[in-house]
Parts: sequence; C-alpha cells; structure tokens
Amino acid sequence: MPDFGYTINKQRLIDLDKNDRQAIIRVRQLEPSIDICIGCGTCTATCSANVFTQLNLRQLMLLVNRGETAKLKQEVEKCMLCGKCTLACPRGVNTRHVLLAINRALTETEQNS
Ligand code: SF4
Ligand code: SF4
Repeated sequence: MPDFGYTINKQRLIDLDKNDRQAIIRVRQLEPSIDICIGCGTCTATCSANVFTQLNLRQLMLLVNRGETAKLKQEVEKCMLCGKCTLACPRGVNTRHVLLAINRALTETEQNS
C-alpha cells in the first residue's frame, strides 16, 4: 500500500478483495436498481418493521455491497415486505425486490457452500 502519511485503523479496514462479493453480483443480476441507491436512509427511516425490530435497510445494502454477509440472512428475515420503503425511495430503487434478491442470493450462497 502507498504511504499516504497516515494509516487506517485496522478495525475500520475493509478489504474488498478478500471479502466474498458473490452475493452482490447476484443481487445486481436480480435487481439492478440497487446500483442507483445514494444511501440517503429514507428507506430505513420509513421502515414499518423498525417499530418492532432493528432492521436497517440502508446498512443492509451497504454490507451486501462490501461482501460482509455474515448474519445478514436473519436481518433480511425481519422485513415484512410491505413495500413502504419502495414508495419512499427518492431514487426509485425497488427496495422490496432488493430485499427479496438479497434473501435469494444468500440462500443460494448457503446451498452452494
Ligand atoms: S431510500 Fe433509496 S436511495 Fe435512499 S438509502 Fe434507501 S434505497 Fe438508497
Ligand atoms: S418492505 Fe421491509 S424494509 Fe421496506 S418498509 Fe416494509 S418492512 Fe421495511
């Protein structure tokens, strides 16, 4: 790594080359609109399941993008598929379908491992 004159805290280091990014590749195939997300968090702020759970769709999509998929399946399963986040998204991301695609990609990864 080049010397930039500062170092990154190891706990904050995300090595995308070492992470398994198969899930996001599959999610992009199933629901390409995930790529136009700007991470605004409107989906999370309006999520119906948030009343009962800690479901955070913005974080979930970020983690899938990074290939940090451990324990994500149980997060996805908190979604009630009501579709409110899809109506609220200012970018027109089909968030409900993104969640279904993530669930499917994670299930396929489990079955292939
Ligand atoms: S509301 Fe849409 S653009 Fe904003 S974080 Fe959620 S999916 Fe991304
Ligand atoms: S579809 Fe899922 S993530 Fe979206 S608002 Fe409803 S419960 Fe929340």
